[in-house]
Amino acid sequence: MKPAAFEYHRVGTTAEAVAVLDQLGEDGRVLAGGQSLVPLMNFRLAQPEHLVDINGVGELGYVRHDDGMLALGATARQAHVAAAEPARSDVPLLVEALGFVAHPPIRHRGTVVGSIAHADPAAELPSVAVACHASLTLTSRAGSRDVAAEDFFLGPFETLLAPGELVTEVRFPPSAPGAGWAFVEFARRHGDFAIAGAAVTLALDGDRVADASIVLCAVGPRPLRADRAEALLLGQAPDAELIAEAAERAVADLAPGADIHGGTEYRIGVARVQVRRAITLALERANGGDRR
Ligand SMILES: Cc1cc2nc3c(=O)[nH]c(=O)nc-3n(C[C@H](O)[C@H](O)[C@H](O)COP(=O)(O)OP(=O)(O)OC[C@H]3O[C@@H](n4cnc5c(N)ncnc54)[C@H](O)[C@@H]3O)c2cc1C
Repeated sequence: MKPAAFEYHRVGTTAEAVAVLDQLGEDGRVLAGGQSLVPLMNFRLAQPEHLVDINGVGELGYVRHDDGMLALGATARQAHVAAAEPARSDVPLLVEALGFVAHPPIRHRGTVVGSIAHADPAAELPSVAVACHASLTLTSRAGSRDVAAEDFFLGPFETLLAPGELVTEVRFPPSAPGAGWAFVEFARRHGDFAIAGAAVTLALDGDRVADASIVLCAVGPRPLRADRAEALLLGQAPDAELIAEAAERAVADLAPGADIHGGTEYRIGVARVQVRRAITLALERANGGDRR
């Protein structure tokens, strides 16, 4: 199918983008890599009246260290980020998760910020942003505001973004020295959206867990933090039994909807396994194994 008619606005700077978005209000929609929006438009599941194409905003294509953080601009492509040294050294969890997002041609066009702004509950990157305590800069004509990724996602494809706002940047704190990480998911084929996935970071003090972040994707309306599982691990020296108990806690309150890929119980079972595997791998890496 072809999309419904729309007006196309190509902008060259951030200032121009927010000025046009401000004028359009509710009727304006940002076009980044187009890898989610264009298929939705082709199926007429989205019918924006105006598209504001930010692909020409070169000043937002950066991947850089900034004030101790990894900063990614709105037009930084997923493939660029996955290959960039600052991302590989600072936020290996993000780089690992990017390997599960679709396929290389899509990652060469799709942006990290676009995936986060899209807020698909089955997408990998929103859960990574929450697990890493990332923050987003939302810019409008009136100025900028920073919001924690944890607060940004309201529900499926629903975020704190207001009409007229552009997500200009996502900032990731660097992984703590020696911390372990893991992104693990199960999908029917590599590159498909996950049936369930887990993003984990784990810092140790000796053999005890000093900090744990566990976030699930594809099993709820938005990325879900498994805070009861995190609390169980804190201060403990995890063994297989404790990790299994943490995975049990992580899925205890889940109620994912059934779809053609699986029923509720099946998805919970898959999520339990992903959490167990992700904690185990993050722990192994925190202990110096398989750090890549
Ligand atoms: C075959 C296929 C398989 C895929 N598989 C996966 C997968 O396994 N996992 C996965 O996570 N994704 C998958 N995707 C989606 C892909 O990763 C997209 O690139 C990504 O979700 C959106 O990024 P984009 O830059 O293409 O955004 P777009 O498609 O351009 O935009 C998506 C939405 O976000 C909004 N938006 C984008 N950027 C901004 C911004 N800076 N400020 C405000 N709003 C903004 C747009 O208005 C739109 O509503 C797949 C896509 C295809 C076509």
